[in-house]
Amino acid sequence: MRKFKTESKKLLDLMINSIYTNREIFLRELVSNASDAIDKLYLKSLTDSSVQVDQANLAINVAFDRDARTITVFDNGIGMTADELEKNLGTIAHSGSEEFKAANAEAQGDAVDIIGRFGVGFYSAFMVAKEVSVVTRAYGSDECNRWTSDGVEGYTIEPVSADDPAYRSTCGTTIVLTLKDNAEDADYDEFLSEWKLRELIKKYSNYVRYPVQMLVTKSREKERPADAGDDYQPEWEDYTELETINSMTPIWKKRASEVTDEEYAEFYKSTFHDWTDPARTFSLHAEGTLEYDALLFIPGQAPFDLYSRDYEKGLELYSSNVLIMEKCADLLPDYYNFVRGVVDSSDVSLNISRETLQQTRQLQAMERRIEKKITSELEAMRDQSREAYEKFFENFGRGLKYGIYSSYGMKKDELAGLLLFWSAREQKMVTLQEYVAAMPADQKAIYYAAGDDRERLAKMPVVEAVLAKGYDVLLATQDVDEFCFQAMRDFTAKGLPKTYADDAAREAAEKAVADGAEPEVEDRTVELKNVNSGDLDLASDEEKKEAEEATKANEGLFGAMKDALGDKVEKVAVSTRLAADGAPAVITSEGPLTLEMEKVLAAGPE
Ligand code: ADP
Ligand code: MG
Repeated sequence: MRKFKTESKKLLDLMINSIYTNREIFLRELVSNASDAIDKLYLKSLTDSSVQVDQANLAINVAFDRDARTITVFDNGIGMTADELEKNLGTIAHSGSEEFKAANAEAQGDAVDIIGRFGVGFYSAFMVAKEVSVVTRAYGSDECNRWTSDGVEGYTIEPVSADDPAYRSTCGTTIVLTLKDNAEDADYDEFLSEWKLRELIKKYSNYVRYPVQMLVTKSREKERPADAGDDYQPEWEDYTELETINSMTPIWKKRASEVTDEEYAEFYKSTFHDWTDPARTFSLHAEGTLEYDALLFIPGQAPFDLYSRDYEKGLELYSSNVLIMEKCADLLPDYYNFVRGVVDSSDVSLNISRETLQQTRQLQAMERRIEKKITSELEAMRDQSREAYEKFFENFGRGLKYGIYSSYGMKKDELAGLLLFWSAREQKMVTLQEYVAAMPADQKAIYYAAGDDRERLAKMPVVEAVLAKGYDVLLATQDVDEFCFQAMRDFTAKGLPKTYADDAAREAAEKAVADGAEPEVEDRTVELKNVNSGDLDLASDEEKKEAEEATKANEGLFGAMKDALGDKVEKVAVSTRLAADGAPAVITSEGPLTLEMEKVLAAGPE
């Protein structure tokens, strides 16, 4: 027996016992290796005309034997020579590097990252197996060899003779795992079932590009005898059939025109465990220095735990068709945490556990691009299918507003255009762009009122007063609204018809348009104002003066009212903000905190 090098041994022990948090991924690793081996053979055939492969026969086979407690993974890929067996499977880390030594000394957490540099997926088999045997025959070699190991001390390599039942007459590799004995805390028998293996193949290797096959047992009705009468009882028999378990062609690699909406919806539902069809499906194909395909979905309904602490955002990350991470959080900004989908990039290299990725820079670049794509898709949805968009906004709008607030307004450009608010004048949801576009020329701000009840807000005297001036008021009823508005401070409406300083300028422009010029447009930045905050500045100078004089003239009365109300109010004065035929009095606040914000803050965290 050849011994594992000491550092390999320690590494193996560390890995089996602590690095992989998830035993079931052993199958993914073995299937990936098999797929790689077939790739290598196929590639060879492309570059070397003496190498003949029958493409139709390239496959991976998974089998199990309940009595012997074994799982077998068979491929007809390139195989390994005895030397390659020694080199690839005998030493875990090809070189005992410096980092590796550090890894041994340090705590687990650090070790994970360092080990991440070595490709050691094969050894994950020892998480479930007490013995692993690898029988392999390299392409073009007439030798067949067996590598065996218990994953503890070392391994043996020996030739396999032609009369051995395990002998391979064709190239490729057969890996047999003898499962560990069941222990109180670990049931390895669970892997000895067609159902379980099928589940694992579907889950982790569904898009491996070669067929992953299993001999499955099915049941069918026996052929009816020719003379079967009305009282004939059908008889059933079992039979076996080689079934391809994985779907092979990744749906995200297909052109959108080749895939039906139903297929996308099915993929979405089965992959992301949702019952409702997605509200929108879109894909992204990035080329250049970093190549990847992404298939993304806006869910049709909010997951029940979206706003809970347990909710995990993230996209599935594949590298060359193999799932390496189920929820890669780095690919999505928080405010798009509801988006689901798949990203596949052969440029993201894998590491040992595939659970920790080190390509942060690449991920950041992908995240930015994905974020832009999501924004533009939402904008398209807003402009093309308003009804669907309003439904979307009902589900996920709160997160967008929160994104503006929590970024202190930095994400305003990205997100503000996506917001919808209830317009008191239009009696429907409007965007801020629509609000500004509909503003009369003399209106200086976007007015909103915040509170928890739309009806009640609409009846507020100040709201009535602002509406009476001919200005619309947005009625904001979510707790985050006002924080969002305050973080934004203003909104820039894009491409509005240009306003002109004087009639002459306007007439000149009109004439130019009549002569065939494009109408001029301009952006307009408008402040957001709570109708309840001190100075609304709606009144003319004259009205203001009148109010001041009236306050002075009634000093005695207001002083008495202030005394009676005590600490409850700061001051009592005549207001210019009430409509002539509206309410006689109004309570309002001054300073950055409005009444509504005080209420939310006083309520404390949810
Ligand atoms: P990685 O796949 O990241 O290189 P693994 O530990 O999974 O690391 O595999 C180690 C090496 O063993 C592979 O690089 C490959 O050379 C060899 N190998 C593993 N499985 C097979 C197989 N089924 N056929 C041929 N070679 C294999
Ligand atoms: Mg591997």
